[in-house]
Amino acid sequence: MTAGALVTTRTTCPFCGVGCGVLAATAPDGTVTVKGDPDHPANFGRLCSKGSALAETIGLEGRLLHPEIGGARASWDAALGLVADTFARTIAAHGPDSVAFYVSGQLLTEDYYVANKLMKGFIGSANIDTNSRLCMASSVAGHRRAFGTDTVPGVYEDLDCADLVVLVGSNLAWCHPVLYQRLAAAKAARPGMQVVVVDPRATATAQLADLHLPLAPDSDVALFNGLLDYLAAGHADGGFVAAHTTGLDAALAAARRTGLAGAVRDTQLEAALVRRFYDLFARTEKVVTVYSQGVNQSVTGTDKVNAIINCHLLTGRIGRPGMGPFSVTGQPNAMGGRETGGLANQLAAHMELENPSHRRIVQDFWRSPVIAGKPGYKAVELFDAVGDGRVKALWIMATNPVDSLPNADAVAAALQACPFVVVSDVMRATDTTRHADVLLPAAAWGEKDGAVTNSERRISRQRAFLPLPGEARPDWWITAQVAARMGFAERFAYASAADIFREHAALSARANGGARDFDIGGLATVTNAQYESLAPVQWPLPAGAEERRGAHRFFGDGRFYTPDGRARFVATPAGAIRLAGTAYPFVLNTGRVRDHWHTMTRTAKSARLSAHVAEPFCEIHPEDAAALGIAPATLVEVTSMHGRAIVRALPTDRQRRGSVYVPMHWTGQYASAGRVDALACPETDPVSGQPGLKHTPVRVRPFAAAWYGFAVVRRAPGPIACDYWALARAAGGWRVELAGREVPGEWTAFARGLFGDAEDLSENMLAYHDAPAGRHRFAAFDDGRLDGALFVGQEPVAVSRAWLSERLEADIAGPADRLRILAGRGGAGVAEPGAIVCGCFQIGVNQIAAAAGAQGCRSVDAVGAMLGAGTSCGSCRAEIQRIIHETRIPERVGGHAGD
Ligand code: SF4
Repeated sequence: MTAGALVTTRTTCPFCGVGCGVLAATAPDGTVTVKGDPDHPANFGRLCSKGSALAETIGLEGRLLHPEIGGARASWDAALGLVADTFARTIAAHGPDSVAFYVSGQLLTEDYYVANKLMKGFIGSANIDTNSRLCMASSVAGHRRAFGTDTVPGVYEDLDCADLVVLVGSNLAWCHPVLYQRLAAAKAARPGMQVVVVDPRATATAQLADLHLPLAPDSDVALFNGLLDYLAAGHADGGFVAAHTTGLDAALAAARRTGLAGAVRDTQLEAALVRRFYDLFARTEKVVTVYSQGVNQSVTGTDKVNAIINCHLLTGRIGRPGMGPFSVTGQPNAMGGRETGGLANQLAAHMELENPSHRRIVQDFWRSPVIAGKPGYKAVELFDAVGDGRVKALWIMATNPVDSLPNADAVAAALQACPFVVVSDVMRATDTTRHADVLLPAAAWGEKDGAVTNSERRISRQRAFLPLPGEARPDWWITAQVAARMGFAERFAYASAADIFREHAALSARANGGARDFDIGGLATVTNAQYESLAPVQWPLPAGAEERRGAHRFFGDGRFYTPDGRARFVATPAGAIRLAGTAYPFVLNTGRVRDHWHTMTRTAKSARLSAHVAEPFCEIHPEDAAALGIAPATLVEVTSMHGRAIVRALPTDRQRRGSVYVPMHWTGQYASAGRVDALACPETDPVSGQPGLKHTPVRVRPFAAAWYGFAVVRRAPGPIACDYWALARAAGGWRVELAGREVPGEWTAFARGLFGDAEDLSENMLAYHDAPAGRHRFAAFDDGRLDGALFVGQEPVAVSRAWLSERLEADIAGPADRLRILAGRGGAGVAEPGAIVCGCFQIGVNQIAAAAGAQGCRSVDAVGAMLGAGTSCGSCRAEIQRIIHETRIPERVGGHAGD
């Protein structure tokens, strides 16, 4: 589309599994702006904070733009030849299972399809697994056990029309913000709708809840077993169960062993709360149970999924409007990966590796020399196999396992020991790329073309609107080139992503006829022009159904994909909860923050996104913190039997006693010791192979800091010589949190090193020293601009981060301005906004609290009318609600009328 000089491209957000449509407008000078696509049925024009900031993440800074071999630039021909030769030689010497691919939910469907085809059909191994194993493998396994196939039955519309939405292990407000806003809008329109949040933490999502169940970690199976038992006493849909299911007796026997008493015991919830939830579920017909990583990332994840599904099967609440279990995926194309067989225990097009007729269908279709006959290594096993030498050549595509896999330091050691590591990525320097023998530059969002599938089975196009930079190439092209050099050129002769998509669609329809859920045969003959203009479309879409309109739900007809066509109840015995021991007495939970994505390779480029949470933190209950001598804003060491992190202490009663929470995003590029997955336990669910990332026994203690510091700097600092640092982008430069066990010998030299060590710096640097108190301040200027400022003290430094960061972009007019910077505040009348809550309007927590307190705003809309906060992307509305709530609690305690 063109409007004036702007060229607008319809594409899809590359972050979470909501799959929002994006309009990317490119101006003649190359400037890109983004907004939500009002016609996309996933978001109807809305974007969250991350989606709104997409244009800030597409710069070429830090990009990998040329192939490299051994750290030196190489030609594509040399790099591809080396990859193909080394894989071929390794396979010839050690067999097909000696090589592996580790891929990603960031890949497009076409990329996934080609990688899976090469590994399973031409190399002859199933050693291809994906980082989606860390995200939703337990949902896949639970679906397959219950439904016979990996089917998400429902659609987003179900959230609009449900009367009860149960959110289990799902911080929707931060992890799927546009879906959360849809739910919040539905609840506002129909206040009778009830929302229950089942989560050990009082997350931002819990603000919406009529009932929050802060259950003990990993006690979900007991909670839903108790519910199944409760529902069986008079709330079952006997007709549905008799006609369309099997296995109820065994499932019910397991549930009865838990019962209400067991549920109360294991969840550590008050019996009245549990009963209230059971009663609400029992008497509400239209129930949707949404679940995500809090369910999946567990050593009992598959049983949790089946315990939830059991309750929907018993009540027949599945596949009808406003009813059903609903797994929402973390990654933008986790579903596309499932469709193309990107998991080590699946074939392409939802076919099964263990099924000989499925293997024959796929091999015939691919005309491939072999077909993998047994499952390959799942993610955690895969890196174990790399570490002990079973896998000798590994290709990692679009993911950063040295930060995201559990026991991540062992993953780094495994890569270091591996004879041959290839990494395809968009970024040059990640914690994983440093272990690569060959680096291959991949096309990024905005440069690549293909399809993604969101959580409600909706296939959307990601379209290129930027030229390929340097020598970057699409992932499918890179894989097909290696396949060609391995001798398979004819079967990988794709000219475009459209060629691959047609083949993928045709395979889904091969020998299907309704026998399998995934059928997009209606798209198998799209022309290049039709593919280019393809509107978002939900599967299934078999040939002849191209004109179908409206939402499609599975299983409303009671037909499932098991051999007898019936859904299966699965017995889910509630096992003993793994308790933290004396050496590691806390349970560590990990997850996302609102404004960062995965390992921050893109979102950390945005100052706006980085302002929300600028360093890694540890949420801990205030009584636990007090018992350990941990003061707010000091640093803590969190240690497991696998690793250690140093993060900022955040005492909060949103956290349960005995549990702590550290976010997953920080890498070696952004913090000295913030890689939380270095601590995470590598134990996996026995069915799905998904690691229990949300449950690691840890020890927490104060970090013995002799000094704390905060700095803003114009230039990205080089290596920082202290025990703790955390780096975040600010407009005009960087902000840095600092601390150390030992006081540096010479503070001026430390400051100069941090600021960039310009030769004439000392002449333009102001300094203040109070040596007995351990306080030092430096501010360096260059040509009327701030070059850097450093504040040091024996306690956490209380200067305004937001105000100082803004000074990097300000004109520093004269001595008074310079002295204000050294003083660390803007002077009388300049309010400290506090930590940024609303990224769109840069409104901080102090401003919102003031609006809610002295200025009398009692609703999010009232705060929005006064400050603008929450009125653009809306991602901060749940936090604004919490701040209003917390600000006004003292008034309620004081008995103010009308509250
Ligand atoms: Fe992107 Fe946000 Fe939509 Fe997720 S909710 S797809 S991150 S805009």
